Amino acid sequence: MKKNKPMTRNENMARVKSKNTKPEIFLRKLLWHKGFRYRVNYKELPGSLDIYISKYKAAIFVNGCFWHMHENCKYSSILKNNHDFWKKKLEGNVERDKQNYSKLENMGIKVIVVWGCEIKNMMKDEVFSEELLNTISYEIINRVPDNT
Ligand SMILES: [Zn+2]
Repeated sequence: MKKNKPMTRNENMARVKSKNTKPEIFLRKLLWHKGFRYRVNYKELPGSLDIYISKYKAAIFVNGCFWHMHENCKYSSILKNNHDFWKKKLEGNVERDKQNYSKLENMGIKVIVVWGCEIKNMMKDEVFSEELLNTISYEIINRVPDNT
């Protein structure tokens, strides 16, 4: 098997929104066990959804804290190197997120965001994992889209 050359930090960082990341796969498995059936990397709707549950019209985004600027999160800080470049890029991501979420909600699709740091905690802590999964399940089934 051909080994990939190790990437520098910058190359690594530049791969925006990679698909099928570990946190995504972790959450999908839990949802599957809960009985939810979904499409992944669903491109027919705005934002190219990480997870889409058509039965409940629920879009789930698994957002990396760095890329999507998770507020008050230790994993979300703008890099000191090329600070202005990153600031602009990340703020652009957040703006795009906002637009996609409101398009979806306007289409009657509820948007549920799960943060990378939350999934990290889920991986470490079974009780937290169960609680958060229950909250997410409840939202998938019961929440009403914000399109009023
Ligand atoms: Zn976070």
